[in-house]
Amino acid sequence: MNLLYKSTRGGQSDVTASQAILQGLACDGGLFVPERIPALEIPFEKLSGMSYQETAYEVMRLFLTDFTEEELKHCISSAYDEKFDTEAIAPLAKVNGVYYLELFHGATIAFKDMALSILPHLMTTAARKNEIKNEIVILTATSGDTGKAALAGFADVPGTKIIVFYPKDGVSPIQEKQMVTQKGENTLVVGIRGNFDDAQSGVKAIFGDRELEKELNQAGFQFSSANSINIGRLVPQIVYYVYAYGKLLESGELSEGEKINVVVPTGNFGNILAACYAKQMGLPIAKLICASNDNKVLYDFFRTGEYDRNRPFILTTSPSMDILISSNLERLLYQIADSDARKDMELMEALSSEGKYQITSGMKEKLADFCGYYATEQEGAETIVRVYEDTGYVMDTHTAVAACAFRKYTDDTKDGTKTVIASTASPYKFTRSVMESIDQKRYGNMTDFELIDELSSISGTEVPKAVEEIRTAAVRHRTVCETGEMKKTVREFLGCM
Ligand SMILES: *Cc1c(COP(=O)(O)O)cnc(C)c1O
Repeated sequence: MNLLYKSTRGGQSDVTASQAILQGLACDGGLFVPERIPALEIPFEKLSGMSYQETAYEVMRLFLTDFTEEELKHCISSAYDEKFDTEAIAPLAKVNGVYYLELFHGATIAFKDMALSILPHLMTTAARKNEIKNEIVILTATSGDTGKAALAGFADVPGTKIIVFYPKDGVSPIQEKQMVTQKGENTLVVGIRGNFDDAQSGVKAIFGDRELEKELNQAGFQFSSANSINIGRLVPQIVYYVYAYGKLLESGELSEGEKINVVVPTGNFGNILAACYAKQMGLPIAKLICASNDNKVLYDFFRTGEYDRNRPFILTTSPSMDILISSNLERLLYQIADSDARKDMELMEALSSEGKYQITSGMKEKLADFCGYYATEQEGAETIVRVYEDTGYVMDTHTAVAACAFRKYTDDTKDGTKTVIASTASPYKFTRSVMESIDQKRYGNMTDFELIDELSSISGTEVPKAVEEIRTAAVRHRTVCETGEMKKTVREFLGCM
């Protein structure tokens, strides 16, 4: 059955999946949502034997109904191939009775690869289907991981250019090195003097600039977004929850239909929204546990129903979660407002003018599947050491926030439901923070690459290729700009002065 998309703010409807992917953000500033969430119709015994690619096809075909079978299978096989260091693509590690769903085996060793390795293929296919002649310019704000994963996905893809803005002092040294060494003639990486929210607001302003759009159209360009607001990012993320369930059935860890809880270290609310969609498709998920770091806007929101970004922005050792405006939450708000675009708009206007909004009690009741927990810097670090000392398993700082949130949830509720923790980055991506959590005195004075070798030796894991490569790579991007200069930087790169 055909599935169409509409904007959360009511200004666009009857949009095909390929159009929504090309456009990224809706014309009215809203986010595209499917008109309904399709039901997953895979019998459990079939699901348990399926490969990642097969699962991806079965899930994505329900959402991207204007893609042909051949197109979609081609996108899937081009994305989930040897770029991943394991055939499982997203393996599960059972540690202390909990399942860590490792989403970091792709090209840039973080979970953004799960969606960004397929998005360029979805987008170029979508451009072909819609007879687009312009070059697609991907514009992205990143808190670290999206940027590199998008760059890796789009580098040298014909018919595309990609421009990435990141907070100059808000990403880890390894994240920065990964981005500024990016190859590909069609890539531009820019540090901005501001935080992630500034970068994201700047990108949104450029997307909303109709003058610039006209000017670029004349020059043969059009913007699209690789940020997690793109429906082409969200849909591929549903896959790994379904896949994980299948693998847990296959290994006999779960019985058919048995419910699981899912814990997701959250920033922009994309990953956990994908889990929520998986649940709405019929995957047996009980609770969706939203884990935050010290920037705990979402924790407060789930407790009180008030979203309030008026608070200091705290730089933490889980930088990909240092976010005060979780863009994808708008999709959930729209849903719990019974698809009332006016209500959605009212809340979003309050967020932009007052920096906060309060949902109604009726809306709050519909959030019963969610609960919020958070971990402080100290608690996250303690979690890394404790699990390492107990089991030898080394997790990254983002995953540690989730693991800590899970422990707090279990302490509070005594809920014994089997649980999957989304493990969103390799410890090799945040090596310094990880190693200093384990032993500050011993590791505090080592260089980043010494630490990487130490990590390999204490965890008994191989240094990932993505990290090996940047040891010697040359810096290719040195542009730094003020937040007010982002538009000018874009124009210059595209040769539109
Ligand atoms: C992006 C990211 C997150 C947050 O995911 P959202 O979908 O933005 O909520 C968590 N951990 C890591 C390592 C990430 O890169």
